[in-house]
Amino acid sequence: MNPTLELAKELISRPSITPSDEGCQELIAKRLEAINFKIEHVPFGDVKNLWATYGESGPLFIFLGHTDVVPTGPIEEWSHDPFNPIEKDGFLYGRGAADMKGSVAAFVTSIEDFFNENKSEMQGRIGVLLTSDEEGPAINGVAKVVEELNNRKEKIDWCLVGEPTASKTLGDVIKVGRRGSIGCEIKIFGIQGHIAYPHKAKNPIHLATEAINGISKLHWEDKTGQFQDSVLQISNLNSGTGASNVIPGELTLNCNVRYSPSTTTEAIKESVESILKSHNLSYEINWIQGGNPFLNTETTLIESVKNSIISIIDIVPDQTTDGGTSDGRFVAPTGAEVVELGPVNDSIHKIDERVKIEDLAQLSEVYKNILKSLLT
Ligand SMILES: [Zn+2]
Repeated sequence: MNPTLELAKELISRPSITPSDEGCQELIAKRLEAINFKIEHVPFGDVKNLWATYGESGPLFIFLGHTDVVPTGPIEEWSHDPFNPIEKDGFLYGRGAADMKGSVAAFVTSIEDFFNENKSEMQGRIGVLLTSDEEGPAINGVAKVVEELNNRKEKIDWCLVGEPTASKTLGDVIKVGRRGSIGCEIKIFGIQGHIAYPHKAKNPIHLATEAINGISKLHWEDKTGQFQDSVLQISNLNSGTGASNVIPGELTLNCNVRYSPSTTTEAIKESVESILKSHNLSYEINWIQGGNPFLNTETTLIESVKNSIISIIDIVPDQTTDGGTSDGRFVAPTGAEVVELGPVNDSIHKIDERVKIEDLAQLSEVYKNILKSLLT
């Protein structure tokens, strides 16, 4: 009997492609209501969010996760129906198995087990925050709920995000921060003309080469010791009309920087724009802010997560900050300590997504241990 597996299967059988929830949160709410959680549905637009809490006072620990999944891709390439969970060779197959319905199921079973064993000694509060828009624009999801909680002066102390962080085996990697992301589109203007009359035109490709060279070398040092240095990457470079006898009128350049908390977006913007200015270019620049970076300054949750992994799985996890962004970026600015721990991520967003069945039970055990260490 593996209750985490059973619940994960029930969740996977609901085809909740972003921003759809398909009753996943209702199912979780029922389970939590049965153990006396206070249930609040907090929808914004077409996004469903669940905020469930237990306890009256003391530090607040929350599990943070999402019920939405990414699209399946070509269904005919799947070995089985992605929304009909299948157990095979020790794995559970289905869209969302690893990202992150397995973790969401483990949230619930870990709390149920913790209550069975240690409820009378519990001090503090437990919350579960779920959204149906993590994989999409993430505008009406956790960002809005956190805003609402801030308005109520609700302070989260510890936040455990169930994103699939493991690289090869469960527990080998946890994330204690994430890089931020900022991008820009730069348009450099020249004057279009005949290639045989260059004195009557202005070639933006020629004008931009030195600036592009300078921009491509930009980097910002990480001083936290937890991140790589931040480097700018050019993702797109376009100019030319397609004709070989025309000097183009403009050049477009797209850049992105994944940056550590040692760097600010102001510093990045200033570096790029000062290079453009120093070459006297006629240009236009449009900045696109992605997620903000975060890094824990406290280590209570980190220590609890590490010790729980060591005692249950018997491996010492690596602490990293790489990868894309997660909803942890919305909770970290409230001052909460945020750590991410979830299943192996080698099949996420892919055809035949899967999770090891024994990892589901083990993940639930680790989560329970964390609750025990922080709240008793
Ligand atoms: Zn995810």
